[in-house]
Amino acid sequence: MKQIYLKSHNQCPVCGNALLDHYLDSVDYFFTQESFTLDRCANCGLIVTNPFPGFEESLKYYQSEAYFSHPNKKMNLFGYLYQFVRTHNMRSKIRVLKRYVRLGKVLDIGCGSGDFLVACRDNGFDVSGIEVNEEARNYTSSRIGNRVFHPHDSLFIPSDHVDMITMWHVLEHIHDLDKQMNDIMRMLKPNGFLLLALPNPESYDCRKYGKYWAAWDLPRHLFHFNPQTINVLAAKFGLKQIGTYPMKWDAYYISMLSEGYRKNRLGFIKGLMAGLFSNLNARRTGNYSSLIYVFKKM
Ligand SMILES: [Zn+2]
Repeated sequence: MKQIYLKSHNQCPVCGNALLDHYLDSVDYFFTQESFTLDRCANCGLIVTNPFPGFEESLKYYQSEAYFSHPNKKMNLFGYLYQFVRTHNMRSKIRVLKRYVRLGKVLDIGCGSGDFLVACRDNGFDVSGIEVNEEARNYTSSRIGNRVFHPHDSLFIPSDHVDMITMWHVLEHIHDLDKQMNDIMRMLKPNGFLLLALPNPESYDCRKYGKYWAAWDLPRHLFHFNPQTINVLAAKFGLKQIGTYPMKWDAYYISMLSEGYRKNRLGFIKGLMAGLFSNLNARRTGNYSSLIYVFKKM
């Protein structure tokens, strides 16, 4: 097996190992059609986009109109499906949140256009957000009252302050995991909670679609965690996993997008079927297309 050095980092952000095995070649099917490589840590199995663009360079990969959800824009079928799923997901997101925190401070990192924070506020939580995209940041600020910061300004959030930090499909976009995790640990209260939603490369739909799997989302996703590697990362920072929840809609959405990338005929129907199989398979294995992990600061 070919062993190569990690190009974007000196070492694996999860285990510190410096050797990788080649894993898969794929393409930014969503936007630029550029080719990228996935490698896997020879020690812990973390899959890494390698090399991945630096922070400044990475911004151009987010310039697709479709990437950020703008309110009131014209949408195609997938857009409508996405909105439908978001609405139905919201109730279950709040339900998971309330299992751990009844009232208190919620910080959503990568809050986008702020739908989750608005729902939290409407459920009595004290909310704030962090968002790198200026347009999304200003929009969400206008919705929840100047409580949304650029990541560089996270120091405005006091230490030992937040009851629950949420990152909905965000950690996989973060360049400096050490810095992000240290920042999270600083802001969380003792016994506070971190909720991470992440795509799962152990899922049936990932295995089925291989390089066409839409949740690789290269090169916007830099790290591709499975249930084991995310646990090792969290434990390194003093977090204990206390819950896992499926995101069943993601199996359908990701499978349909993947069918589109594969340019399959009847992709919509095939994607629906693949999503169903993925969820049925995961009832046995636990490996849903996307998973919500809840960790507690010990
Ligand atoms: Zn590793």
